[in-house]
Amino acid sequence: MKIQVIGSGSMWTKYNSACYLIDDKIMVDFPNGACKYLYRLNIIPNTIDNIVLTHFHGDHYFDMPFYILNKSKSENKNVNVCCSKEGKSQMNKISNLAFPNSFKDACNSLNLKYNFNDDFVVEDYKVQRILVDHGRMKPAFGYIFSKDNINVGFTGDTSLCKSVEILSEKCSYLFCDCMLIRGNGKHQGIDNLEYLSKKYPNCTFVVSHLEDDTRKEIKKFKIKNVVVPDDAQIIMVK
Ligand SMILES: [Zn+2]
Ligand SMILES: [Zn+2]
Repeated sequence: MKIQVIGSGSMWTKYNSACYLIDDKIMVDFPNGACKYLYRLNIIPNTIDNIVLTHFHGDHYFDMPFYILNKSKSENKNVNVCCSKEGKSQMNKISNLAFPNSFKDACNSLNLKYNFNDDFVVEDYKVQRILVDHGRMKPAFGYIFSKDNINVGFTGDTSLCKSVEILSEKCSYLFCDCMLIRGNGKHQGIDNLEYLSKKYPNCTFVVSHLEDDTRKEIKKFKIKNVVVPDDAQIIMVK
């Protein structure tokens, strides 16, 4: 399994906002700027057919209107979006604002499918969705992608909660929120990662959504099973 960290930063940093590309085929989150992030890596957004969204803060889905419009102009018209039902209507709202005269036609020209289930299949992966705790933003989801006994998880934005422990227990790699130095009711922090990395030594934690001071601090810790990625870094999981 190939996971490219397209974005590892929080909004107010020079790093791209947190999002990931699996096997060049599946995007986990699609933040503001995601199309540009991909172009800068020589990845053409319309070659990607699957978008899995964790929750509906702008820094996780605001480039969806541009992605959908571009898809409608390309030859490959397959789009699968996995998200919450509330998310679909949010996406339609911002897309109609962005392209009031063409969004509906763009959707009609696409083979556009939504998936609102807790368990689903995307490409060759079995995917399980799990509710996480991101303060007042509800629902917010984490995901586990499974294939050939490999389990790789994504927390999305979350505070430390039972679901993060389940993901840590099950997954060999967990791409996780570590925005802050000290975790709060919305986001995890380095203190949470110290706890998780000790309790779940078989899991490698790839931290993301990092504020600049958090990135600097967590690099000093040199925890064996914590990876602090750069944007564009590729992680292969076997
Ligand atoms: Zn959020
Ligand atoms: Zn966020």
